[in-house]
Amino acid sequence: MYDLHTHTTLSDGEMLPMELIRRMAVLGYDTVAVTDHADGSNLETLLAVLPGVRESANIYGVRLLCGVELTHVPPILIQGMAQKAKNLGADVVVVHGETLMEPVAPGTNRTACSCTDVDVLAHPGLITRDDAMLAAEHGVALELTSRGGHNRTNGHVANIARDTGCTLVVDSDAHAPHDLLDKRAKISVAMGAGLKKDECSRAFSLNIDELLFR
Ligand SMILES: [Zn+2]
Ligand SMILES: [Zn+2]
Repeated sequence: MYDLHTHTTLSDGEMLPMELIRRMAVLGYDTVAVTDHADGSNLETLLAVLPGVRESANIYGVRLLCGVELTHVPPILIQGMAQKAKNLGADVVVVHGETLMEPVAPGTNRTACSCTDVDVLAHPGLITRDDAMLAAEHGVALELTSRGGHNRTNGHVANIARDTGCTLVVDSDAHAPHDLLDKRAKISVAMGAGLKKDECSRAFSLNIDELLFR
């Protein structure tokens, strides 16, 4: 099992990275991306400190992916910041998409979908078909999320991903221990979004390296 979108005390999460990773290990995860909220103020710090827990994560059987979630970054700056994150060693770059729950700048989805240094567009709200086609073209995965509020548009995201051939990922966007998903909870997020059985297995058996190192 993987989760490509989680938060720790390095931004607004409640757990230190190792508490998150230990809990994920116990739930059966083998791949966990720590993707704290990032902007121009903390991008470098996040990517400098996170590798400090890589060895500990390995000992618990978890492959740590060091990442960031570019959050409320003006669309015009997203591409440059995503590229900078990759140059600083980020394994995964998530962009905080145009959820209905927050005043995310219009154009965030479109820019993220056009950017090869972006791996996952999180909670993309009522993403348009055109934007999803760009995501498919650039290999950017769209996210189904369990997070309350952000998850309102999961059904829409699933439909549009099916129509346009986008890769789907299922993430927790966890900020606290109770946000973490066991296998059953993860499957219900996917099925609740309307994924058929084969679509579920595709989303869960995703080749993470193919997504991240495309
Ligand atoms: Zn947050
Ligand atoms: Zn998040």
